[in-house]
Amino acid sequence: MSIATVEVSLSALNHNLERLHAAAPHSQIAAILKANAYGHGMIEIAKHLKDKVACLGVARLSEAIALRQAGIHSQILLLEGCFPHENVECVVEYGLQTVIHSPEQIEQLKTVKFNTPITVWFKLDTGMHRLGFRPEEAQHYFHQLALCDSVRKPINIATHFCCADELESAITPTQIKIFDQFITSIEDKNLIGLQSLAASGGIFAWPQAHRDMIRPGIVLYGVSPFAFNCPGKSTGHELGLKPVMTFKSELIAVRKHKQGESVGYGQIWTSSEDTLLGVVAMGYGDGYPRSIPDKTPVLINGRRVPIVGRVSMDMVLVDLGAGALDKSGDEVIFWGEGLPIEEIAHHTNISAYELLTSLTIRAKIRYTR
Ligand SMILES: *Cc1c(COP(=O)(O)O)cnc(C)c1O
Repeated sequence: MSIATVEVSLSALNHNLERLHAAAPHSQIAAILKANAYGHGMIEIAKHLKDKVACLGVARLSEAIALRQAGIHSQILLLEGCFPHENVECVVEYGLQTVIHSPEQIEQLKTVKFNTPITVWFKLDTGMHRLGFRPEEAQHYFHQLALCDSVRKPINIATHFCCADELESAITPTQIKIFDQFITSIEDKNLIGLQSLAASGGIFAWPQAHRDMIRPGIVLYGVSPFAFNCPGKSTGHELGLKPVMTFKSELIAVRKHKQGESVGYGQIWTSSEDTLLGVVAMGYGDGYPRSIPDKTPVLINGRRVPIVGRVSMDMVLVDLGAGALDKSGDEVIFWGEGLPIEEIAHHTNISAYELLTSLTIRAKIRYTR
């Protein structure tokens, strides 16, 4: 196949799920599937995981509806709740759980009558300062929420870390402390439901934050959330995970190239010697970023070779080296098996999260067992 392919290993996904169960043995798992399951294909990943995890987490109502329309009957959590223009009745209609992070959402819930109360997650802002109730107002709003007939009791409580990937930072312990102070301050303990604090970074760096439910996103897909120079944690492999995605294409031409000749748009690279250049069917039209710097490695026939020149929409060039034996049709791996995406993220200064979620619909996803 002479096209960009996103090969997704469901056995690697199973392996990672087992690894997460082992890492947080007392916690339920909310598998995070937002943004097309980080580029892995939301529906297929959901079908594979639905009976293996407690809950599926998404960031948009449209994602939750797409899952329901695909016949997924699992628990689904809206990580950011319904948005102001959306109808909160959708939560009931589609049987969703929702995060409650703002006074407006509580006001909305006061005005509706549901036949069955909905499961909600009260979001506490412990330091991320993005969504959630500030600690000094949280008591008040938690009780307002508890007064809503449309809300099932007890109420689950969640927060999100801003620096869980920074192992030396004092911010995460502070966030945990603020969370625990809030829990302690709730007088009616019967109102306290499940607790959830940890996403990927928290799972592997802050075990005291595992609690009732962990929310793995990127680690589920076998990728480390930590910096590339973080000892013992810089790749999924080091965390005991396997890369789920291998992003690949193939050589469509191998060409002689002379010393002093430039290549591609803008002539940004010139060869210092006679060499062989490979042309690969991969470009920013597939999701391989145009801002990739030259010398970024790809894997061809088991060895790393550098990208040269500017990534274009449909093609990218690699310097195979004089005397290379690679030929048209040979496989080229951009990240995944044998070439960790964390290495590409480090090299390009583009986070693995962004690389994964930038893939386009032209890159066909293929699932293997
Ligand atoms: C995206 C998200 C996650 C998953 O984050 P990872 O770092 O990919 O594990 C967990 N919780 C919330 C609230 C999120 O928005």
